[in-house]
Amino acid sequence: MKAIVFKGPKDFEMQEIPMPLCPEEGILVKVKAVGLCGSDIRTFDVGHGKLIPPQVIGHEVAGVIESIGKNISDFSVGDKVAVNPIIPCGHCDYCKIGFGNHCQELEFLGTTIPGGYAQYVAIPKVALANDCVIKITNNLPMEQVPLAETTASVICAQKNMGVGKGDTVLIFGAGPIGCLHAVIAKARGAKKVIMSEINESRLDLVRRFTSIDVFVDSSQQDVHEIVLAETNNLGADAAIVACPVGLVQEQAIDMVRKRGRVCFFGGLPINNCHINLNSNRIHYDEIAIYGAFAYAPKDFIEAFHLISEGKVPAAEFVTHILPLKDIAEGIDIIKKGLGIKVVLKPWD
Ligand SMILES: [Zn+2]
Ligand SMILES: [Zn+2]
Repeated sequence: MKAIVFKGPKDFEMQEIPMPLCPEEGILVKVKAVGLCGSDIRTFDVGHGKLIPPQVIGHEVAGVIESIGKNISDFSVGDKVAVNPIIPCGHCDYCKIGFGNHCQELEFLGTTIPGGYAQYVAIPKVALANDCVIKITNNLPMEQVPLAETTASVICAQKNMGVGKGDTVLIFGAGPIGCLHAVIAKARGAKKVIMSEINESRLDLVRRFTSIDVFVDSSQQDVHEIVLAETNNLGADAAIVACPVGLVQEQAIDMVRKRGRVCFFGGLPINNCHINLNSNRIHYDEIAIYGAFAYAPKDFIEAFHLISEGKVPAAEFVTHILPLKDIAEGIDIIKKGLGIKVVLKPWD
């Protein structure tokens, strides 16, 4: 089969490799669409701590069941499926309290096990046992399914930080994640969403999203001034930093009101991950800072249903559909801010 093989930082190519075998009590999925995720682009550039090359990466997978292992009654050959790539064990201390994202034996499709930048992907038994495979029973276009993974992360983060009714939410970074935060914030009852983005072409691309009320070009405009003007001089109720920039994390703390919540959604480069916090704002003004890493299986199921029911306008996010062999072009589109979500098709 054809697959993109990652051999090390800045070193990957399409290769002909053996088709994976169907796991004994798992399934083999013919990949119909796979999302090009920002985290994959980072892996292509600098590698990943939990990944040993060579590896087939890619984790936002939608496909059709090609073959099926033993003892599986819920699925049949030919079923269309969405695959949740964050596969918890289901029995460790974190899994038991519902935080599968921190599972001590986490398997991550496309990192610890071969992923979806390929024509076929093997899905192990543990994924089926932990509700990580969802049957698609309607006519949802396959290219919209990969959005479920990022949507799940966004849902999990907003639940944690308590985005809800009446909130004014400030979002930094108008990539697919920032825009999904806007959609989910509104779905959770937020009153106003302010989007700050430094790349003008990316900002223009996202003007299509009705969930965003105020667009701020941070290369030209003073974000803090606009936030104060939009919030009666109080500051935002919640701020979400959906870009990997430490300085923006620092600034976000100054732009929320007293008792405001800040979420650091994007990770920083490993050799540059210390920032300067205004500790007194956290102390006197009772600012809460939240992290965000992945999600639990229940969040993925919720995300999939929001997309499937049209409550997340996935079609508006998918700006480019490319054959898998053109992955380098897709990476370029994302890096230059010329598209929102790129989806790859391994059979085109
Ligand atoms: Zn992803
Ligand atoms: Zn676990």
